[in-house]
Amino acid sequence: MGEAPAFLVDPLLTGHSNGFGAKSESEHSAISVDVGDRSYVIGRTHKALGVQIHDKSSNDWVSPTVLGTSPKPCKGYSAVLLKEGRILVIKKGSGPDDSIWFLEVDTPYVRVQKKLLGVEVVAWSKGVTGIAEKPVVVSGPSGVGKGTLISMLMKEFPSMFGFSVSHTTRAPRNMEKNGVHYHFTEKSVMEKEIKDGKFLEFASVHGNLYGTSIEAVEVVADSGKRCILDIDVQGARSVRASSLDAIFIFVCPPSMEELEDRLRARGTETEEQIQKRLRNADAEIKEGKSSGIFDHILYNDNLEECYESLKKLLGLDGNVPFNNLEAVEGVNLPAEHKVSKMENKITIQETGKAAEKRVVLDLSLLNGGAPGRTRGIVVDAIELS
Ligand code: ADP
Ligand code: 5GP
Repeated sequence: MGEAPAFLVDPLLTGHSNGFGAKSESEHSAISVDVGDRSYVIGRTHKALGVQIHDKSSNDWVSPTVLGTSPKPCKGYSAVLLKEGRILVIKKGSGPDDSIWFLEVDTPYVRVQKKLLGVEVVAWSKGVTGIAEKPVVVSGPSGVGKGTLISMLMKEFPSMFGFSVSHTTRAPRNMEKNGVHYHFTEKSVMEKEIKDGKFLEFASVHGNLYGTSIEAVEVVADSGKRCILDIDVQGARSVRASSLDAIFIFVCPPSMEELEDRLRARGTETEEQIQKRLRNADAEIKEGKSSGIFDHILYNDNLEECYESLKKLLGLDGNVPFNNLEAVEGVNLPAEHKVSKMENKITIQETGKAAEKRVVLDLSLLNGGAPGRTRGIVVDAIELS
């Protein structure tokens, strides 16, 4: 049998239902939220909020693998169980960019990761206002021009797109910078991080390990930009199965001969590596075209024409105002408060002598979620009495 959780302060389960499906806040205490026959206990550890699962039928405690960046500890917090397997966690006395978090306990993303990692999984996702455009996944055989097209997009729309910097175990090319083009990583380090659940997806490609860390996607989401991922077909398949609701684009070469010419002209690979990449290209193109993973197939024959097609399918052609992203913002909450829930609305009522603030969060337009940020929180009303 697992042991009871060792949280820093009062490990007792002191949350009380207030009749609205919300747990009342309790300073310095762990709080517990029931989902089926399990209790998710959220409590303070040294550096972050920790999570333990209590299985009531077996009376067993489980330490889940926690994905995403965990919230920093605070002096008190409230938790509300929402539909779709997520728990809203509101931190007391935190800044606007750190006040609202979601603990996903049974979302599609968590279920996929559970299966993949073979352990209990929960995932944190910070809550923000603003509706963002979907991330863009670009796949295609090596040398087809993915990097070129992505660079053009980022150059023309620098405030709109942010590149998800992958990890790889391959050696850097001449011009490549660590942290900009890739996080160049030791295989053993990357394998350990994969085991620890730090990756949204990973795959062995042309003999090296490549992967998208959850942090890479979160960094772009936090900057308020639309995330672009340059990943192979296996990675695209994994992302398709995740909750990262993205647009999937596959780029095809005009011919295998042209692909070979481009790879050679790039001059970044040895002859052996070129051969390996060409051998893999056939299968990648077949899968790209037939697997149903991709929403759009682009042919990169003439670069300018292909770039125009890419912009068109991203809604960036013509006179459409290109940056229709809403600013990503946090929510300013009273430090001392009570929380109640009515359908999709969460009321946060200030408590204490000078109580005058009430914030209503409308969660009916929530989107996104782990990995990344949970968006679409609408701050419905702030009343001063
Ligand atoms: P990938 O990122 O898919 O591996 P790159 O963007 O590095 O491919 O492109 C491979 C090479 O092909 C580069 O030297 C690039 O300048 C060139 N290239 C890209 N698109 C075209 C095109 N439409 N016509 C000719 N050359 C191209
Ligand atoms: P390159 O070595 O040419 O930079 O990339 C080789 C292949 O790895 C390309 O098909 C590229 O899309 C893919 N790739 C790059 N980053 C990732 C990643 O994070 N995950 C996966 N699955 N593939 C990646």
